[in-house]
Amino acid sequence: MDLTSHYDPGALVSVLTTQPIDRLLDYRAPAGGCMQGAYVQVPLGPRQVLGVVWGPGQGNYDLSKIRPVTRVLDAAPMRDEMREFLTRAGDYTLTPMSAMLRLATRAPGLSDPPSMQKVYRLGQAEPDRMTDARRRVLEVLRDYGGLSFTQKELAEMAGVSTGVIKGLVQQGAVREEQAPRDTPYPRMDTDRHGKPLTDSQAAAADRLSAALQDGGYGTTLLRGVTGSGKTEVYLEAVAACLAAGRQALVLLPEIALSEQFLVRVEQRFGAKPVEWHSGVTMTERRRAWKMVGQGQAELVVGARSALFLPFRDLGLIVVDEEHDTSYKQEDGVLYNARDMAVLRASIAGARVVLASATPSLETWANADAGKYDRLDLGARYGAAVLPEMRAIDMRAERIEPGRWISPALAHAVQRRIAKGEQSLLFLNRRGYAPVTLCRACGEQIGCDHCDARMVEHRFLKRLVCHQCGETRPMPEACPACGVEGRLAPIGPGVERLAEEVAEVFPEARAAVLSSDLFSSARALKEAIAGIAEGDVDIVIGTQLVAKGHNFPNLTLVGVIDADLGLQGSDLRAAERTFQLMRQVAGRAGRAETPGEALLQTHQPDHPVIRAILTGDEEAFWTAEATARRLAGMPPYGRLAAVILSATEARTAFEAGQDLARRTGPLARLQAQVFGPAAAPIARIRGRHRVRLLVKADKGVALQQAMAQWVGQLRPDRDLRVAVDIDPQSF
Ligand code: ADP
Ligand code: ZN
Repeated sequence: MDLTSHYDPGALVSVLTTQPIDRLLDYRAPAGGCMQGAYVQVPLGPRQVLGVVWGPGQGNYDLSKIRPVTRVLDAAPMRDEMREFLTRAGDYTLTPMSAMLRLATRAPGLSDPPSMQKVYRLGQAEPDRMTDARRRVLEVLRDYGGLSFTQKELAEMAGVSTGVIKGLVQQGAVREEQAPRDTPYPRMDTDRHGKPLTDSQAAAADRLSAALQDGGYGTTLLRGVTGSGKTEVYLEAVAACLAAGRQALVLLPEIALSEQFLVRVEQRFGAKPVEWHSGVTMTERRRAWKMVGQGQAELVVGARSALFLPFRDLGLIVVDEEHDTSYKQEDGVLYNARDMAVLRASIAGARVVLASATPSLETWANADAGKYDRLDLGARYGAAVLPEMRAIDMRAERIEPGRWISPALAHAVQRRIAKGEQSLLFLNRRGYAPVTLCRACGEQIGCDHCDARMVEHRFLKRLVCHQCGETRPMPEACPACGVEGRLAPIGPGVERLAEEVAEVFPEARAAVLSSDLFSSARALKEAIAGIAEGDVDIVIGTQLVAKGHNFPNLTLVGVIDADLGLQGSDLRAAERTFQLMRQVAGRAGRAETPGEALLQTHQPDHPVIRAILTGDEEAFWTAEATARRLAGMPPYGRLAAVILSATEARTAFEAGQDLARRTGPLARLQAQVFGPAAAPIARIRGRHRVRLLVKADKGVALQQAMAQWVGQLRPDRDLRVAVDIDPQSF
């Protein structure tokens, strides 16, 4: 950073704040001056808000009224590179800069002076009187061993008011302490050696390391079946990056993945990496944010939001399981972390590794077009071979109504039980039954706020809306006609499948792995560890198990309904089903015992099912790419969606029709506009949703036109507008 980027005391500076105001605000630099990019606290009306010094002031206000910056915060100034990233990511996703800055400042207590940081841990004394609330606080502290939390964290975790904590402090049952100063993380030891690599692993690792040494931006698709050693290979790239003195970021799609992963990193580098996701305590997050900014955190493992950490010298971003749909943020700022990783790296001059057994069509096409480098790891590591995949033709199976495990599948499971091996039954549906039907009047119980059915969760004895999370007790009588005792579950969920398993295999030990059945990430981790150790004969699981867990003794995967993802109008259905089925099948036979995957299907001749069975991925991708190219669909064309939502259905529809009539800015690009139509989920949390889809050629300046187009909408208190560039479903 050069000297001109320092502002003298009293100089005019413009500040970007995290408040939803669509312009920069002018202030005077404080006594002592400030740097370009400094994180500051500034007065805004009666409040103090967080901001960043963005540039010289515009000076087009009454100069006498301009207030000074309150103070400069104790954090490394935002680098130009980060500012460019936020600006370009905001332009791409049509997100206001204030919202982008909020993404980049997710460090709690950033604006508190260090002296205000207090943390709480378990004390020695017993409280004089034990209440439920007090007990919960003490339980949380005991549960988490030696960890300390801020008052707000602790209150949230225990579900109590902060007053309860204060009371416990007075009694000595909880200790109040000054927060530890933010300390650097242990260094990664890159002199240690990883596992000896196979020839194809070594070749891939060498290519990646050489590219890192050459420096500069570039993206590599690292393709290899599950278990082929992609992780081993990219950890070598991480080693090369760290050895060159630069920072590395590994993005993972699922928190549950990280425990096994952290252990692997620790084995490789002798220290744990920095974690960044929603499960990390606030004090730890604050420390991570600061240390990353000072370059005293070398390796970060995190969820998609880790992309917005203030890295000082980022050399490598790995996006593991790059095809995973959870990389697309579907709330607030709508961005795809995989695409943003490429953008961030291209600005930082960093390398990107996109690792997957089943890449997204976008990435496959970029590699095919030569934009990305591509490395293929052939076989699985060691003796492990891909499972044999076969279809069970459900049209030919004799199966009672209300049952879902075919005799052929039951037979295969039985054989595993006899040999002491594990089986996985995969069904991508949480809860007991997807539909609750009244046999008296035909009513299917729906959510009051969403256009979705309520799903019975028998374990919780409740109905749950998977859209908005609304729950209510399972009723005795039909809410529509009032008749009692005629409500019937229709179709299978994992809980119901577990019942069937108990009947069919009464001697087997079974466990259901579904995200809603675990009270915490820790409980889930323990369950996964138990399965890996052989506590269970039959695992019944949702999508949760499809992702990277290692169950060495698992040799059979039974897919209960392979056709599930092929229904519906989503054009990505084929891609998704193909990926999911291949991933699930990859759970079988990871160690020395070969595995088998059986797919129950009513359409064994469907092209997607056939491609899954033959495992001819290139053929599948080529066919899928041709279909998309002909249709002008992504990645060969561009799509954007506008979602209009309002509590009144009419408001949303009329706004949609208004937009559909005024397509001038888009017509210039020869873009097509479809809709307004009910959005794929037509109602969420009581708001009606209407969608317009825009389809355009690849090379056009779509964002600009979209902004102009949507900008024509008349403001309406009730109306919310969200633009989704590159929507995931279309
Ligand atoms: P992927 O990321 O492709 O699923 P992993 O890197 O997780 O594959 O490797 C799968 C399993 O094989 C892991 O348990 C890993 O430790 C082991 N493995 C892979 N390559 C080697 C190697 N060269 N030496 C020893 N073990 C290996
Ligand atoms: Zn709902």
